[in-house]
Amino acid sequence: MGGLCHRDRKIFINYPGMRSRVIVRMIDRIGVMLVVFLVVVGCTEQLTCGKPYIKVGNSCCLDKNDNSICDNNEGQKGDSIDVDKVAKKGTDNIVDEITQKEVDKITAEQTKKITDDITKQKTKEITDKILGSMGATVTGGTAAKKCDPNIPTKRQFDSEPYYTGSLIDAHVHMPSAFPIPDSFAKQAEVEMPAFDQDVNRADVICLFDREGIKSVVGFYLVANLLTEQSVDTAEEMEKEYPGRIAPFLISPHASSIDLKPEDVESIIVSNKGLFKGIGEIGMYKPAYKDMQPDDPKFTKLYDIADKYDLVVMIHPDSDNKEAIKKILKDYPDINFLFHGPESAPWLGEIFDNYPNAYYTLDTDLFQLDKEYGPTGIYGIESKEEFISFVENNYDKLLERNIKNWKEVVEKYPDRFTWGTDIAEEWQYDPEVGALLEEGSRAFIGQLDPKVQEKFAYKNAERLLTK
Ligand SMILES: [Zn+2]
Repeated sequence: MGGLCHRDRKIFINYPGMRSRVIVRMIDRIGVMLVVFLVVVGCTEQLTCGKPYIKVGNSCCLDKNDNSICDNNEGQKGDSIDVDKVAKKGTDNIVDEITQKEVDKITAEQTKKITDDITKQKTKEITDKILGSMGATVTGGTAAKKCDPNIPTKRQFDSEPYYTGSLIDAHVHMPSAFPIPDSFAKQAEVEMPAFDQDVNRADVICLFDREGIKSVVGFYLVANLLTEQSVDTAEEMEKEYPGRIAPFLISPHASSIDLKPEDVESIIVSNKGLFKGIGEIGMYKPAYKDMQPDDPKFTKLYDIADKYDLVVMIHPDSDNKEAIKKILKDYPDINFLFHGPESAPWLGEIFDNYPNAYYTLDTDLFQLDKEYGPTGIYGIESKEEFISFVENNYDKLLERNIKNWKEVVEKYPDRFTWGTDIAEEWQYDPEVGALLEEGSRAFIGQLDPKVQEKFAYKNAERLLTK
């Protein structure tokens, strides 16, 4: 269970999705802004102003000459929704520390009043303004290329036996489709990678090529704002690099801007065949803390997965065992892919009873026990630290992986997939990638030869081509 406090900049030592959490925080704040906008719209809808007054925003103003422009605004454009103002207010609110609870409260009270049409019409405009006013652009620049496809990775250690075959990385968080504003990144004290601006698209594929990774499961964050940009990015990557990334649709894990199930379905339908799965659904995230994986919020998504033959990827929390069993039983035709340390203790029980359960072994391959301090790609915070950590502990890591995982992976040879869980910018670095590859191949080499390829790529391949 990864829940150790580590300074106040990272909530979890062990795990996961630092980037996702930051996005959630950022997105929560954008959510606040949207709420401000929605309040304006909501009030506008309820208010009627008798002549010679006209309705403007949430109040009435005098319009004697009946030209639909307030008399005190004559000569100016008479928009009833002042996008600049709303964006400014949203920005101010974002800068204030607003708790998730407050966001949820305001959201619950106000969003009911809003029609989807108005939201859709104005969301993008306001979001662009907000991102712009915070120093971010919606269309990023071009990140320098760091990866040379002509230089293969070089081994640094000489552990034998060593697996040299193909790999499928079953857990990759794709860079965000749009740059995350600096102020958000600063608040969270992490670097946020965005496609084009921070991580070069070709580099992503170059890393896979160098490391012998034939394809990956890639989580694309799709929220109820900037939805199009996110889906377009997944589509463009598929067009440019067909078959290299199996796109999964991941939610921001924030009640205010999570896609509604009907929106998920419409994205799946209107981009036929693009998405191969839904998830990762992180049950440990604050927004889902009091829910179980069989909550209607999630079963509606499973219904969609069932209908369109999609994999569902869940990161269960430690108290989710019964609910996980229930969904495996209720949805026998869905292949569920799990990961994370919380469910590791009850994996055997799950595998013994449910043929539709799979598990990706990823960050734990670079984790040491607590006495070593922060370890693994979510305990360590930079490329340099990670490189020295692996260089100093290579044998220890391998030893631990053999002790903790070899037996169970060989016992359930058809259920485990390999992965990395890379997400942050430094984790997309070629040197980091080379070490993730080498440590993983060294572990795979220690498995029964009959199991090696299954774990390395065949199980993932079967799962994705079902
Ligand atoms: Zn993840």
